[in-house]
Amino acid sequence: MIKNKTWNRKKIVTIFFACIIIFLILGGRLVYLMVFQSDYYTKEAQELHERERSIKAARGRILDANGTVIADNKTVCTISVIHNQIKEPDRIVEVLSKELELSEEYVRKRVEKYSSIERIKSNVEKKKGDAIRAYNLEGVKVDEDYKRYYPYGSLASKVLGFTGGDNQGIIGLEVKYEEYLKGQEGTILTVTDARGVEIDEAGEERVEPIAGNDLYISLDMNIQSYATQLAKQVMETKQAERVSILVMNPQNGEMMAMADVPEFDLNSPYELPEEIETDGLAEEKKQELLNQMWRNGCINDTYEPGSTFKIITAAAGLEAGVVTTKDQFSCPGFIMVEDRRIRCHKTTGHGAEDFIQATMNSCNRVFVKSENVLRFQCLLAVSTNPVKDCQKELTEPPSRHLRCT
Ligand SMILES: [Zn+2]
Repeated sequence: MIKNKTWNRKKIVTIFFACIIIFLILGGRLVYLMVFQSDYYTKEAQELHERERSIKAARGRILDANGTVIADNKTVCTISVIHNQIKEPDRIVEVLSKELELSEEYVRKRVEKYSSIERIKSNVEKKKGDAIRAYNLEGVKVDEDYKRYYPYGSLASKVLGFTGGDNQGIIGLEVKYEEYLKGQEGTILTVTDARGVEIDEAGEERVEPIAGNDLYISLDMNIQSYATQLAKQVMETKQAERVSILVMNPQNGEMMAMADVPEFDLNSPYELPEEIETDGLAEEKKQELLNQMWRNGCINDTYEPGSTFKIITAAAGLEAGVVTTKDQFSCPGFIMVEDRRIRCHKTTGHGAEDFIQATMNSCNRVFVKSENVLRFQCLLAVSTNPVKDCQKELTEPPSRHLRCT
């Protein structure tokens, strides 16, 4: 009997200590979770209960040399639905499909989809967005957003470039200066309960977006407009496929105009010209045609400088005093250099002309004729592109710099 009692007591003591140990372990775990891991779990819980919607940042504008805005933002709306908050799904389907001109089937699929937030349509005109907001439908969110807008349409299209669905630059300056133009998106945080329903009293927390920087460029839209008109005229009269005009400020090399016709409409950059048959065209082929249409020949193609280089020859020749504007020349339509007969572009010859007239005529003979000019071109060649033979000659006395090979 006594033995049995002792045994029982032993059992009670063992269980008692076991319980204490278990409580200690649990208590320790609790302290660990509540004190040491508190930050982590608070964050997890917050993420579970907060619903995040992004607020688009206004993209920086692009302004021309006169401060005229040539790439701007238009306020548009993004319409979304939050499944858990929807009370009248049929009415929402009816209103949204009517207002947004979407099929009921399409809207219903999104309204009935179980997700935290479902986008129905973006880039909706602000007027439409306001109209939808006025219905006061529970579970329908109308968020304001920005869309790129180009007030000049197709002017300087290949230079400016355009943006895609997420307002990111696709080509041209829009992509080149993306980093500066894009800004920083903001967020709207709303607190929800376990079922995902927003808690009204909790309110929303907003992190405001930061607008992008404006980009000021040297292009002058007036000059650009004249250059484009001229290029179009030339394209028509010469039946050319493409005509490019570059206008540069001679004082500092700034580009004042860069036209490359045919241009395209920046406000609908994915529309190919009407004359191109797009029906039944493979997606790849279509993309290729678009790339061709967007391509800026002024910076992507090479072109031999040819006569344009005469400006440099003339300017350098005048500055060095090897030729004056009054020097007289005579052009029979060609010039012999060693054993080569170099034609003037006017094969019948420009006849008697002074240096100014020769420059106006872009006369080949005058620009290669005098030994002075020739010598001068040699010097120039050395300064811009070191040619071995010229350098060798240059180490000798100046009077012997007669010809560059
Ligand atoms: Zn000539």
